[in-house]
Amino acid sequence: MVEIKLSLLEGVFPVLDKCLRCDKKVPINATRVGFSFSEGGVICCQCAGHLALAKIPGKMIRTSLHLAGQKFSVLAKQKVDAGEIRETGKFWGSYLRDKLEIDWWDNFAACKT
Ligand SMILES: [Zn+2]
Repeated sequence: MVEIKLSLLEGVFPVLDKCLRCDKKVPINATRVGFSFSEGGVICCQCAGHLALAKIPGKMIRTSLHLAGQKFSVLAKQKVDAGEIRETGKFWGSYLRDKLEIDWWDNFAACKT
């Protein structure tokens, strides 16, 4: 998942392990967790209020945090379910497109297949 490492290198890795508004741990074991693309991270139920948040699977957060801590050489050898990779890749593609405001991302993503 080169997108995860790219976000780290660009300094836009989202806050995934705690609510970015109140710093409270967000239960990443939950089925779905609120995520703000504009603010760049997860937001707990108490802080979500009437915000229109994306609901992302807690499993995706756990996978992303795990992969973020891996070296590039190890990353390619990770065994992750193909469906999970596809869903996680879509999320990270959308996130990076939003954060980096890059038009080249679509071309880059097309080259990765
Ligand atoms: Zn909160």
